[in-house]
Amino acid sequence: MGEWTWDLSLKLPLVLGHEISVVNEDKTYLVYNARGCGLCKQCRRGENQFCEKLNVLGVNMNGGFAEYVDVTGFPLVPVKGNPIDATPLADAGVTAMNSVDGIEQGSKVAVLGTGEVAMISIQLLRNEGAEVWVVGRNQAKLRKAKELGADEIVYTGGEYSTDLSAFATSNKFDVIIDYVGSQYTLRDLPWLLRRTGELRVVGEFGGELTLPEQLLVLRGLKVRGILYGSLEQMKRVVRLYETGKLKTLALPYSIKEINSAIIDLIQGRVIGRPVIYPGS
Ligand SMILES: [Zn+2]
Repeated sequence: MGEWTWDLSLKLPLVLGHEISVVNEDKTYLVYNARGCGLCKQCRRGENQFCEKLNVLGVNMNGGFAEYVDVTGFPLVPVKGNPIDATPLADAGVTAMNSVDGIEQGSKVAVLGTGEVAMISIQLLRNEGAEVWVVGRNQAKLRKAKELGADEIVYTGGEYSTDLSAFATSNKFDVIIDYVGSQYTLRDLPWLLRRTGELRVVGEFGGELTLPEQLLVLRGLKVRGILYGSLEQMKRVVRLYETGKLKTLALPYSIKEINSAIIDLIQGRVIGRPVIYPGS
C-alpha cells in the first residue's frame, strides 16, 4: 500500500485481491476486473481499464482475498480445468496478451523481468514466432523462462540495458517490453530499439523514462503504457490456454497462509503466481 503516486488511491479498510476466479456449480469463471461506465470513448473501444468511472475489485471495492466476493456487473469468462491453475489468466494472462498484441512473427523482442506476466508473455511470443530475449536478476526464474521457450536469457545484477547491450550491441530490438518499470530497467532503454521500434511499459515500480527527443523523432520510435487488457483479450488468452499451449505456473496457498504467500513473493521464492483459495 502507498507505493503508487498517480491515479490510484486506495481507501482503507479494503479486502485486497484483484485477480479473481469464481467457482459456481463446479464451473470456473474468470472475473474481468474492469467495470466501466459502458458509455465513454474508452469503454466503447473495449478499453474499460481507462474509463474515468472505473471500478476494480480489490482496488476501490472489496476484492478476492476472501471466501465470497460480490462480482455484480463484472463480466465473467468461463474457463475449463482446475480453477487454481486458471486464476492467473484473470490478470496476468490478460495483461500479457495486451502487452504482446500486434507483435509480428520474426520480430526480435526483449522481455525485461521474470514475474508471472512476463512468463505468460514469453509463451505467447514464442507461439507467434517472435525471437525472445529475457533479462532478469533471478537465475532460477531465468532458467524457467528458457524452459518456457526464451531464445536467450541474460542475467543482470544492475542496470538491465547495460547488461543487455553487452550481449546485443549491434543487434537491436523491434520491441522491448518492460515488465518491471523501475529505474534499473528503464534507464537508456530506448537506445536498444531499432528504427521504428516500440517500447512497451507494463510494470509499475516507479522508474522514470528519459528519452532524447531527437532519438524519438529520427528513429520514429514509439512508447506505450500497457495496463491490463480488454474482455476480448481475456477470451483470447483463455482459448489459447484451453488448447494446452500456455502454462500459468500457479502455486496454491490457503487463505490462512496468505501472509506466507506474500513473504515468499517479496523474497523472490515464487516462480509464477501464488493463488489464494478459500478453505484449508
Ligand atoms: Zn467508461
